[in-house]
Amino acid sequence: MPLTTHLSQPRRGETSSPHAGKSFWLADYGAYNASASLRGAKTCDVLVVGGGIAGLSTAWHLAKDSSTRVILIESEIIGFGASGRAAGWIMPQFGMDQLKIRARYGFERSQAALTYGLEAVSYTGQIISDHGIKSDYRRPGLMRVAFDDSWINDLAALYKNYDDLGLKGLHWSEGQELHQQYNGNTNFKAAIVDPNLGLLNPCKQVRGLKALAESVGVSIFENSPAVHIDHSGGHISVATPAGCVATEKIVLATNAFTHLLQGPLGAELKRVQAPVRALAAVTEPLSQNQWQSIGWNRGNAIESSLDLFHYLSPTADGRILFFFIYFGGHPKHGSMDGIHNYRGSQVSLDHVKRIFPALAGIRLAEHWGGHMSATRDLVPHLTHIGDERVIYIGGCWGHGLALSHLHGKTAAHLLLGKQSSLTDFWFINRKPVKWPRYPIDAIGKQLAWAHLRRQTSARLKKTIFDSRSAMEAQKTHA
Ligand SMILES: Cc1cc2nc3c(=O)[nH]c(=O)nc-3n(C[C@H](O)[C@H](O)[C@H](O)COP(=O)(O)OP(=O)(O)OC[C@H]3O[C@@H](n4cnc5c(N)ncnc54)[C@H](O)[C@@H]3O)c2cc1C
Repeated sequence: MPLTTHLSQPRRGETSSPHAGKSFWLADYGAYNASASLRGAKTCDVLVVGGGIAGLSTAWHLAKDSSTRVILIESEIIGFGASGRAAGWIMPQFGMDQLKIRARYGFERSQAALTYGLEAVSYTGQIISDHGIKSDYRRPGLMRVAFDDSWINDLAALYKNYDDLGLKGLHWSEGQELHQQYNGNTNFKAAIVDPNLGLLNPCKQVRGLKALAESVGVSIFENSPAVHIDHSGGHISVATPAGCVATEKIVLATNAFTHLLQGPLGAELKRVQAPVRALAAVTEPLSQNQWQSIGWNRGNAIESSLDLFHYLSPTADGRILFFFIYFGGHPKHGSMDGIHNYRGSQVSLDHVKRIFPALAGIRLAEHWGGHMSATRDLVPHLTHIGDERVIYIGGCWGHGLALSHLHGKTAAHLLLGKQSSLTDFWFINRKPVKWPRYPIDAIGKQLAWAHLRRQTSARLKKTIFDSRSAMEAQKTHA
């Protein structure tokens, strides 16, 4: 049973927040009083736009390490974007995926990217322990699993890649050793056991970062979207519906929403990233007996070894958080609406039951979605735009929770003109490669996603996830 007693208990049902429906975490956290919205004219040295982990971490680092006057504005409430909706995996993955980064950028750059990712994971843990953030953080590790014999070769290639890159502590597990970990479950054919993953409640983490930022003097305004940014004069001026800010420098930490920014900067950044829908769901809490019946007692996360993978992890209150990434994709015209996918949740839940047949009776409790930010060159962006007064951070794909904590420190170094081992990484200050213009871009993205889906569907055939095979197996057992 993964529940550990030190974890803070959820305060379900206390919230009246209009944002509660955006994710299980936002609903689960309890009542939240947003900071006041920005009114009237303000001045500052650095304005941060976007109250996700990247924006909050940047604001905090900057104000704590210098006398910079920092304002942060968030269009809704902090954690409204991906940071408050994520699965909560603190992992070293960099950009789209490590194998593709190596294929495209070569060994050395791929190794440097992994080094940055590993530092991001340990730095996130350090911030949490140094400042006592109560975000249910634990570090149980990850198992990447082949759920069919035909998937083992690809998993072995990934293992070799990580081994080449020098990732420490990995372990290959198969046969009885692996089955025993899950109460004799033979659906687990082979696995990479990776200790480099932590789990947390992202909403609690975001709110912990907000408190840290405020403690060092950052002024945070919520429900204050930047509706126009003008950087043509000596000062940069930013308008919100009820106020404006004149600032020396600006950080755009707007991630998957960046294409919606207005004004000349918005136009420049329109095609540097593309939103990709990502979904998540939780079951009702499992009983002690249910956890015991499946033997999943180390609290680790599980990911299937497919391009469009399944992910599963235990929550602090004993649920399974899960989804099958197959149900995602590029929204039409970059729209940020319509992210709930009930069918996707049901199929994903069915797949969880196929992995753990003893859980045939478990039920879906909540499902939600959000947008991760995809870059054309597969790597995250942390770069000046135009001149040194403007910094843009984003494009971490589905792996930005840990990276964004460290990005905040790196961005603060850039803003303070401080060269460091962080600012020297090859992907810092790299000109973003833009996505093509509409309609080429829309066609390309739909085709790419359809290709990934076809590949994934093909790999599900004759496995435990194949509906026909499952029906045949049931007949055989009847
Ligand atoms: C369903 C899902 C699951 C995920 N799971 C994981 C995971 O387990 N592990 C992991 O590492 N990553 C995960 N990710 C990705 C991860 O959540 C992101 O990479 C990370 O949170 C990005 O943080 P951010 O601060 O850059 O962006 P965001 O959290 O998206 O923050 C951007 C903020 O900017 C605000 N904003 C936008 N425009 C404006 C404007 N004009 N004015 C003011 N504010 C504005 C938005 O409201 C938003 O709050 C997941 C993503 C999703 C969607």
